[in-house]
Amino acid sequence: MVRTGRRPVGRAVLAACLVVGALVACTGTPPDADRARRGAADAGDPYVPGRGNGGYDVAAYRLRVRYDPADDRLTGHATITATATAGLSRFNLDLSGLTVGAVRVDGAKAGHAREGEELVVTPARGLARGARFTVDVEYAGVPQPVESSTLGLGGFLATADGAVALGQPDSASTWYPVNDHPSDKATYDVEVTVPDGLAALGNGVPVGRTSAGGWTTWRWAERSPMASYLSTLVIGDYRVTTGTHQGKPMVTAVAASLPADGPAAASLARTGEVADFLADRFGPYPFESYGGIALAEGRISYALETQSRPVYGPGFFRSGRPDTGVVAHELAHQWFGDSVSLARWSDIWLNEGFATYA
Ligand SMILES: [Zn+2]
Repeated sequence: MVRTGRRPVGRAVLAACLVVGALVACTGTPPDADRARRGAADAGDPYVPGRGNGGYDVAAYRLRVRYDPADDRLTGHATITATATAGLSRFNLDLSGLTVGAVRVDGAKAGHAREGEELVVTPARGLARGARFTVDVEYAGVPQPVESSTLGLGGFLATADGAVALGQPDSASTWYPVNDHPSDKATYDVEVTVPDGLAALGNGVPVGRTSAGGWTTWRWAERSPMASYLSTLVIGDYRVTTGTHQGKPMVTAVAASLPADGPAAASLARTGEVADFLADRFGPYPFESYGGIALAEGRISYALETQSRPVYGPGFFRSGRPDTGVVAHELAHQWFGDSVSLARWSDIWLNEGFATYA
């Protein structure tokens, strides 16, 4: 992440981490005997109490969501494939707001309840340690942003022409049920259905687009394990450029309200060149696709290294000149932060240290 502005980046990030560290206190976790049956309600990371869960390890998310900017309403169906790391009679997912309709575990109807930003799932039958299982969650509602005076507005933000789901450390749980901690990375297949004429951009490789009845479904696949905070969804009126670089898909998108020959477009156009420069120093580019997304939404005051496709707030390009520094920072995170990733948020300084150096 980089905040907009010309302050030294390292100082801004350090300040953010210090404030986060000061605000939170270590929370207790259930005793081991209890955890054996009930998955823990957080990952035990004192920087983000309540975030993540225990008792299972997610392998894959399949998300099918529909979003209508006319009423900001999102409907979703998440299929989560995971392995129980303990015997479980119940387990938690993180989900902020939204209304859950039905939950199934291995195809059988499961009990579900909300406890704050936790979705507690009780399968019809307990899960044995080591069991591979799938959870289907149907949900709907108006997703909400996450306010943070230090790290910047994130979560799910409705914009004039669509929406942006973005933010560190919180964003994923505002639009899908998730084990929301970077220690549990997973692959993603995402289908996003939006009104015809709007783009719906995500992480990874574009795997097709179809239209029917006035709606267009955009499909994305991220096959390299990804931390949940690195997932993004950007919906709106964008100029999307699709090509290849080093034999892999390259997808860049610039908000249509920004000039086609302006500094944002010029900066993103150098993505391949900057990635190659970094690959010469750090080793092969770690993912199956390249890209970047330039927002016009002024409430996003930062750029974030969302996997394979960083998202850039408009502040970096207001000077009228291209900013390849921020492109280098976010692309360096593809190696340091995204591929090599956090087990605990207290190590975020390593991500930011390498990216700032780059
Ligand atoms: Zn950064």
